[in-house]
Amino acid sequence: MKIIRAEHLGMCFGVRDAIQLALEQSQSEPLTILGDLVHNETVLADLNARGIRVARELSGVGTHTVMITAHGTSWKTMRTVRDSGFKIVEATCPLVHVAHRAVAKLVTEGYFPIIIGKRGHVEVRGLTEDLEDFDVVLSEEDILELKERARFGVAAQTTQPIEKVRALVDCLRQRFPNSEVRFIDTVCQPTKQRQNAAIELAQQSDVVVVIGGAHSNNTHELVKTCSRYCERVHHVQTVEDLRVEWFENVEVVGVTAGTSTPDKSIKHVEDWLEGLAERKIQAPSPKLQRSTNPQNPMNEAVPAEHRD
Ligand code: SF4
Repeated sequence: MKIIRAEHLGMCFGVRDAIQLALEQSQSEPLTILGDLVHNETVLADLNARGIRVARELSGVGTHTVMITAHGTSWKTMRTVRDSGFKIVEATCPLVHVAHRAVAKLVTEGYFPIIIGKRGHVEVRGLTEDLEDFDVVLSEEDILELKERARFGVAAQTTQPIEKVRALVDCLRQRFPNSEVRFIDTVCQPTKQRQNAAIELAQQSDVVVVIGGAHSNNTHELVKTCSRYCERVHHVQTVEDLRVEWFENVEVVGVTAGTSTPDKSIKHVEDWLEGLAERKIQAPSPKLQRSTNPQNPMNEAVPAEHRD
C-alpha cells in the first residue's frame, strides 16, 4: 500500500498565528477566548490544558482579557466587548480582514451585499453583523429566493471552495440579468491551495483520509471535494477513528487535512497508515470492532449536516 499526501494540507498561517498569540498572551495574564479559536477538538484540548478558557458568550468570560478568534468579528461585537470593560486581544486572520474590507467597499459603492457562506457561521456573522441589510446564500435554491436589486455586491466566506463560489455568482447573474453583479474574490489562498491539492490527491487515490475537526467547515468542504473524484473518502478527527477494513486491497491511500488540523494529528495518521502498510497493524476481529466503536460518527463519506 502506498501512502501519498496532498501537496498542501493542514494548518494555515492564520490558525498557527492565532494559537501562538493565545499561548503568548496566556503566559502574561489569564485569557478567555470568545468562541472556539479553531474548530478542532485536539487544538482546543491543548489550549484548555494550558489554562486558556473558552466562553461562548461574553457573560461567561471570567478574565479581564478576551481573545477574538481567527474567524474575526464585527465592529458591533468589538464595541460591546470593550464597553463591557474587557481588554481585547485580536487574533483575526489578516485574510478575514481582507474579506471585511471587501464587503465594506461593496456597500460603500452602493451594492447590495451578498455573502456566499454558511449562515450562522462565526466568520459569516462577523462579516454581516455591521450591515443594515444583506443576504447569505450557499446554494442555487438560496439564489432563487433573493429579491431583485439593481446592484449586487458579492463576497465569500474565506473557506468556501472557489469553484462553488464562482458557480453561484454565475447563477446570480443568470437569475438577475438586468442587475449589475460585482464579485470580489475573498476565498483565502490557503483554502484554494488545499482544495486544488485535494482534487489532485483524490484523482490518484483509491481511498482518501481527510483529517479535521467534526465542526470544521473547510474540512467538510475537503471531504466533499475529494468525494467528487474518489468513491472512498473517510473523515477522521484523530488516528483513533481509523479502521483497518477501509484499507483492505487498497493500493494508494491519499492523506489531506483541514486548515485547523495540527501537524501531530496528521503525523499520527500517517504513522498508523505506514504501520498498516508494513503489516505492523492487524485487523481486529469484527466483534471487537463493534464493541469498541458501536457508532463511529466520523465514518461517513460526506456528512449530511455539520454545525459550522
Ligand atoms: Fe486565514 Fe484562510 Fe486560515 Fe481562515 S482558513 S485563518 S482565512 S488563512
